[in-house]
Amino acid sequence: MHPAADAAPLTRLDSLFIDGSWRAAAAGGVREIIDPCDASVVAVVAEADATDVDAAVAAAKAAFRGGGWSGMPKAQRVAVLEAVADALQEHREEIALLETRDTGKTLAESGYDVDDSTAVYRYYAALAAQDAGRVVDTGRADVDSRVVHEPVGVCGLITPWNYPLLQISWKIAPALAAGNTVVAKPSELTPLTTIRLFELLESVLRDAGAPSGVANLVLGAGPVGAALAAHPDVDLVSFTGGAASGKSVMAAAASTVKRVALELGGKNPNIVFEDADFETAVDFALTAAFLHSGQVCSAGSRLLLQRSLHERFVAELVRRAELIRVGRGTDKDSETGALISAAHREKVERYIAGAIEQGATLLCGGTRPSDENLQPGFFLRPTVLDDCHADMTVVREEVFGPVLTVETFETEDEAVALAEDTPYGLAGAVWTTDQARAARVASRLRLGTVWINDYHPYVPQAEWGGYKQSGTGRELGPTGLREYQETKHIWRTLDPKPQRWFSG
Ligand code: NAD
Repeated sequence: MHPAADAAPLTRLDSLFIDGSWRAAAAGGVREIIDPCDASVVAVVAEADATDVDAAVAAAKAAFRGGGWSGMPKAQRVAVLEAVADALQEHREEIALLETRDTGKTLAESGYDVDDSTAVYRYYAALAAQDAGRVVDTGRADVDSRVVHEPVGVCGLITPWNYPLLQISWKIAPALAAGNTVVAKPSELTPLTTIRLFELLESVLRDAGAPSGVANLVLGAGPVGAALAAHPDVDLVSFTGGAASGKSVMAAAASTVKRVALELGGKNPNIVFEDADFETAVDFALTAAFLHSGQVCSAGSRLLLQRSLHERFVAELVRRAELIRVGRGTDKDSETGALISAAHREKVERYIAGAIEQGATLLCGGTRPSDENLQPGFFLRPTVLDDCHADMTVVREEVFGPVLTVETFETEDEAVALAEDTPYGLAGAVWTTDQARAARVASRLRLGTVWINDYHPYVPQAEWGGYKQSGTGRELGPTGLREYQETKHIWRTLDPKPQRWFSG
C-alpha cells in the first residue's frame, strides 16, 4: 500500500488477513474509505461479516492451541516486536501519509503517531524479555511453589478512528508479547494503517517461523466488532471507543465471561489556578482542547478557571484560538486538520447550537472555515464557549470536536467538585505554582491520568486508562502486559506421602 496525496483510490478488496493470507470478504462486502480533508475516496476495502469473524477466530484459536507461538522461545517472540518497530520506522513517511489521508490529521501528528507506535513495540519487547513469574516461600522445605503468567488465548482487539495505528499498537504489542493470538478490527472509517501494519506483520511473522493465524485482521463496522465481542472462542476483548459501544461490548462479553478491557471516552477538566504561569497555561489550554481538532479521548475540553483569572485568560485564549491554522493534513502550514466525517461535524455543530440555546456565550469559532479550498472537507473552526455550567449538555457529554467550554470557580474545593461532576474519569490537569496544592488536587481527582503544569504527554512505561465510565483495565506500562496474561499458581510437593485426613 503506497499512497500519494493525489493518487487514485487504492483498491484493495483482499484486505482481510486470515490464517496467514489476504482475502476478500466471504459475502463480497466492500467499503469506500473517505479522506476527511476533501471527501474524496482514498481506498476501497473489504467489509467483513460474521462469517469472516468466525474464520479469523478459528485461525487464531488453532494457532494458539498449536502452541507454536506461545511456546516459541521468548527471545524469538520478542525479536518479532523489535522487527515490527524497525519496519514502522523504515516506512515512517509512507505510513504517516496514509494515516493523514485516512484521519484528516496533520502529517506532523501522523509522524508522531508512527514514532509513538514504534516505541510501544520496543517497550513491550523489552518488558516481555525480562517478565518472569515468582517463587513463593510456603515455609515448607518439601514444596516448590511458583506463580507464572501465561497468555490468555484468543484476543479480539477493537479500535476507534482517532489514533488508528497507535491504538491497535497499544493492544497488539502486549498481546503478542504475552504469547496470545489476535483478531484485530479497526474502525470502519480508518482501516488503512492497520492494513499496512498487517502487511509488515505478515513478513515479520513469516520470517520468524510463526504459525499462520497468530495475527488476523477483519474489517467492518459495529456488527463486526459485536460478533467478535460475543464470539464463544474469543477469550479476551480489548476495546477502545465510545461509551455506548463499550457498554454493549461488556454485555456481549458476559455471555462467555471473557476478559474485558475498555478504554472509553472522557470529559476532561483542565483546572487553572490564579497563581499558574499565565502564558504557559493559556498555551497548553489550546493544545489540550484543539490538538487533532479535539478528537482526542483525553482532550482538555472543560476549562475550569479561577474567577480572578477569567477575563484576562479568556481574552488571550480567544486571541490565540482565532490564529490556529485549520487546513488539509497534507499542507505543511496546517496546525490542525479536519473532523472525521460530515456526520460527525454535524453532531459537533448541534452541540454548539444546543450550548448557545442553554445559555453559553460563543466567543470564537462555531463556524466552518471560509477558505474555498477547504469547502469539500469536514473542517470546523476552534470554538470557545464561555458562561458554561455543569448542567449543560455540552459540558456533560463528550463532544469529540474542537469545542472548549469555560467554567469558573472560587476555591480549591469548588474546583475539585466541578471536575468530579461527570460520569467520566479519564484524564485532566491542574495548573498552579503551589506544589502542595497541586499534590492535593491531583490526589483528589478520580482520573486515570493527572498532569500537573502540563497537558497530553504520556510514555509507554506508564499506565493509561480511566476511572468511572471512562473504562476498565489499563493499557501501557507493566499492567498493560498483565491484561493479556492469566496468572497460575503451580504447587509441587517433592516427596508426596499419604496425608490420612480420612482415617479409613
Ligand atoms: P465507536 O465506539 O463508535 O467505535 C469504536 C470501535 O468499535 C470501532 O471499531 C467500531 O466499529 C466498533 N464498534 C461500534 N459498535 C460496536 C459494538 N456494538 N460492538 C463492538 N464493536 C463496536 O468509537 P469511535 O467513534 O470510533 O471513537 C471515538 C471514541 O473513542 C471516543 O469516545 C473516544 O473518547 C474514544 N477513545 C478512547 C481512548 C482511550 O484511550 N480511552 C482512545 C481513543 C478513543
